[in-house]
Amino acid sequence: MHRREVRVLLHYSGDSKYSVNALIASLDKHGWGGKLVLARSPEELLDHAVSLASKGFRVIVGLSLMTVQIPRRLSLISRLRELGGRLGLFLVAGGSHPSGDPAGTILSLGFDAALVGEAEEAFPSLLEALEEGLDPYALRGVALRCGDHVFFRGRARPISLDEYSSFPYWRGLMGPIEITRGCVWGCRYCQVTYMHGALMRHRSIGSVLRLAEEFYRRGLRDLRFISPDSFSYGGDGRSIALDKLSELLEKLHALASRHGGRIFFGTFPSEVRPEKVVDDTMRVLKGRVANKAIIFGAQSGSPRILREIRRGHGVEEVLEAAETALKYGFRSDVDFIFGLPGESREDVEASLRLAERLVSMGARIHAHTFIPLPGSPYSEAPPGRIPLWAKKRLYKLIGRGGLYGQWEAQERLARQIHELRAKGLILGAKGWRMLRSTC
Ligand code: SF4
Repeated sequence: MHRREVRVLLHYSGDSKYSVNALIASLDKHGWGGKLVLARSPEELLDHAVSLASKGFRVIVGLSLMTVQIPRRLSLISRLRELGGRLGLFLVAGGSHPSGDPAGTILSLGFDAALVGEAEEAFPSLLEALEEGLDPYALRGVALRCGDHVFFRGRARPISLDEYSSFPYWRGLMGPIEITRGCVWGCRYCQVTYMHGALMRHRSIGSVLRLAEEFYRRGLRDLRFISPDSFSYGGDGRSIALDKLSELLEKLHALASRHGGRIFFGTFPSEVRPEKVVDDTMRVLKGRVANKAIIFGAQSGSPRILREIRRGHGVEEVLEAAETALKYGFRSDVDFIFGLPGESREDVEASLRLAERLVSMGARIHAHTFIPLPGSPYSEAPPGRIPLWAKKRLYKLIGRGGLYGQWEAQERLARQIHELRAKGLILGAKGWRMLRSTC
């Protein structure tokens, strides 16, 4: 039987750049580069899909999706589904949303396949199976439609970061270097541990330096990193591997200095945990990084809520972190989540008191509203809501220049995501029970 040649069409959108960069690098590594087409807007994606299909290619369309993007991607997804039916497109979703809701991604959003967990090996394997006519149901890490249910054999093996680049610098596409993947803490509102596992995997110093060299050689100046907790570098996530952290920053600093570049570490997107903001780590940071602030999460000022959400630290560590950062000349930007499940008025009061105290110490508060994310233990929780009396206190902090963030937009987003679940577009925990290991 004649098999159509495959073309892989990826949506390279500004808000998914980091994950798509890693995916492009892995597709190039696995030999798919020549068949890859990038579209920078929904219109371009749809145009390319029509044009490639009309040339007789089998078009596999890949979208990277975070749950918070779903409301604004719904129209693109429905246009793709409609086109897919007419042109025979094969629609694949990857990223944190399909990883947390594979059944909903297929049965409700209408994708043909959902990549669950890491895509660097699962996606090329799926492409190979589709092009070669091999059995895609033999693959791990890929959920597939199977009649009126969803087939999933289980997760793929975790990759070694050293085997994959964070961005395809050879294409001139650059971004932050992912130094650590996975998180040991498993906070109940967060998808990271449930998507990437509890074992923290680190990119070796040699690999980080090679990517940093490529970055600076192309004339770029400000290098950033991706990590769930950058002070965990080299360790198990609970303790600090000071020798590794120190060697990494020393060598990066030397490399950056040779190229006239700068390092941003311990700030977005490589925040740290408060209990690791101590003299040892701050001494390593000082003089080596260009950022003037470090970002760490408090999330709540209520000891009861901190225990409930399994943060693994208390309020004291947050205050000590802000004091220690200041001692070394760094401002603290502290993440808070309002509207967490089970929060009482006293808990919100405790968070506001802590936020106000931190601001009076010179810190800034990065405020968020709780969003129930599929794949996290709080996926079924009600959307976060911030009472008016608490909002008034937050506005006052804004007026003092002490608070920023998308907390109001996130409150609306949380409601939208809750509504999508109510309409069955997100299946969440129910969806996991619908997965089958045979087809
Ligand atoms: S919030 Fe941070 S520390 Fe907690 S599980 Fe997520 S990445 Fe890990």
